[in-house]
Amino acid sequence: MQVAIIGGGIGGMTLALSLHAAGIGDVAVYESASAIRELGVGINLLPHAVREFAELDLLDALLAVGIPTAEFAYYSNRGQRIWQEPLGLAAGYRWPQISIHRGELLGVLHRAVVERLGPGSIHPGHHLARLGQAQAGRVWVECIDRGSGTALGHVEADLIVGCDGIHSAVRRTYYPGEGPPRWNGVTMWRGVTRGDPFLSGRTMVNAGSSRQRVVVYPISKAEEERGRTLINWVATMRTAENGPMPPQSWTAVVDRARVHQAFARFAFDFLDVPALIESAEAIYEYPMVDRDPLPSWDFGPVTLLGDAAHPMHPVGGNGASQAILDARWLARELATQPTIEAAVTAYDGERRSTTAAVVQSNRRAGPHRCQDLVEERAPDGFTHLADVVSQEELAAIAEEYKTTAGFDMERLNARPSLSVR
Ligand SMILES: Cc1cc2nc3c(=O)[nH]c(=O)nc-3n(C[C@H](O)[C@H](O)[C@H](O)COP(=O)(O)OP(=O)(O)OC[C@H]3O[C@@H](n4cnc5c(N)ncnc54)[C@H](O)[C@@H]3O)c2cc1C
Repeated sequence: MQVAIIGGGIGGMTLALSLHAAGIGDVAVYESASAIRELGVGINLLPHAVREFAELDLLDALLAVGIPTAEFAYYSNRGQRIWQEPLGLAAGYRWPQISIHRGELLGVLHRAVVERLGPGSIHPGHHLARLGQAQAGRVWVECIDRGSGTALGHVEADLIVGCDGIHSAVRRTYYPGEGPPRWNGVTMWRGVTRGDPFLSGRTMVNAGSSRQRVVVYPISKAEEERGRTLINWVATMRTAENGPMPPQSWTAVVDRARVHQAFARFAFDFLDVPALIESAEAIYEYPMVDRDPLPSWDFGPVTLLGDAAHPMHPVGGNGASQAILDARWLARELATQPTIEAAVTAYDGERRSTTAAVVQSNRRAGPHRCQDLVEERAPDGFTHLADVVSQEELAAIAEEYKTTAGFDMERLNARPSLSVR
């Protein structure tokens, strides 16, 4: 079986590795960028995604660069603690949660693909321009060099998987009238800053509410070994009232003073957010966008995966984690179903409604809902949290999200492996 993967991001690379592990080795990855560059800031791999990487023998490589995050803490915008819980191994999962630089994660996956499938399996500088159906169930792709517009030929395969991100050309082929992604009016400012460890040293902090919040966590093993921390932070704020949607470019840099001013009051005794903003290497701006869930990803010998299939607000680390799960499920179905068409139908049935539920939950702030609740009930802060919200109510919000996104501990720990042995 020949598989053409469009897009060499986290989803595409994980799919290549998963297919190889399932015994499907005739795989070609077509990536628009002229080289696999280690771009981005921090990203979170939840235990269900880390499990899949462990099954692909990548756990040690990931733990050599990322941080096994041990604790999560929610605070209000006044810095009052609302909720705290252990994460990953500390919570009792069989797999850690890993916070990692997106670029370093892509580096680990890229090196593994080169090592296992060979360097010839990746085609950088190949931007998908067109695709179509050939004779006898075969499909074809035509790529161009995006810089020069030069055509790079016509290649046939048995299956095309669109892993080409939120602006997916594969998705547009089947949903040509869909239009641009949907902005919810929130702007995200993202950066990494070298600093001193805070709280447990492996804590993920989330302070604020849906109007304005920061999420802060360490992402580098190398810095931790030096007694320092590489701190990833994302500051989000509702800005639609004051201006247009920022450009959708992962590399758009923004003026530091604007972000610093907006978050001046987030200087807490446990974490000085304005100082993080002040010392960041660079600050990137991106709108919080997603798309409505689709009625089908099942186009016979063509399907979608990751952000191409279900772009979602980056709440709770599910953007990358769900792409990884898609890849593992699709590889499993392709290795076990009698035909490619049956495999794609089974994959669509397994993953589309699950990820649609995560998209919808993230629109309602997912597990971050607890902060909105506290802000609504106690806008001027509180003396005793229990007067505002009970521990049971907070625990229910956290549990509901884990169930929706597929990482409730008992089920995940007990679920059979997706590996095809
Ligand atoms: C440069 C970059 C930086 C990012 N930084 C962050 C970050 O800091 N934090 C965060 O939470 N998320 C970030 N993301 C998004 C995050 O990686 C995804 O939400 C998630 O990992 C799902 O991955 P994916 O593989 O489905 O999509 P993506 O990671 O978006 O990968 C899609 C890939 O497809 C390629 N591609 C697009 N169109 C075509 C085409 N026509 N032909 C061939 N290839 C194509 C893209 O170049 C890209 O490599 C970033 C994405 C990119 C592309």
